[in-house]
Amino acid sequence: MDDILAEQAADLLQRHARGDLDREGVVEKLASSDPRLGLLAGLLSRQSVESETETVTDLQAQLANANQLAAEAGQLAEGLRVEFDGLVQDVGGLRARLDDLAAALGACPGCWGDDSSCGWCRGRGAPGALPPDPDAFRRLVRPALQRRADVRPYAQPGESVIYD
Ligand SMILES: [Zn+2]
Repeated sequence: MDDILAEQAADLLQRHARGDLDREGVVEKLASSDPRLGLLAGLLSRQSVESETETVTDLQAQLANANQLAAEAGQLAEGLRVEFDGLVQDVGGLRARLDDLAAALGACPGCWGDDSSCGWCRGRGAPGALPPDPDAFRRLVRPALQRRADVRPYAQPGESVIYD
């Protein structure tokens, strides 16, 4: 490549870098100045396009993979949300049942007397600390007591249901 050709090539590259001339334009100009250069530039340009095509294909594969992972993560999150909702429902049911039993036994529903920092009873709410709720007692405690042999079947109010 002589000096004039080198200057032309440098000029073309600068124009291309500025965005004044696209790749095909550079190849066309080089081909018009020297057919061998045009051939070489065309070959290099084609390789560049193939490389960009491979890059695009690779990026598309990565994007598809990322989308697949996002879909799987979404399904996993949905499964966890359903499971969490089920657990919240279970805990709500258990809490209601435990509150009902605490009422039947006259215990603090917050700690059953086990927590001295309890805002309701300050640890003084063990079973029997409060008057048992009559309805809850009748539903939950009396049937269990009646299964015991040492229970008075017809205890009067204020009378112990268990034989001393
Ligand atoms: Zn308590």
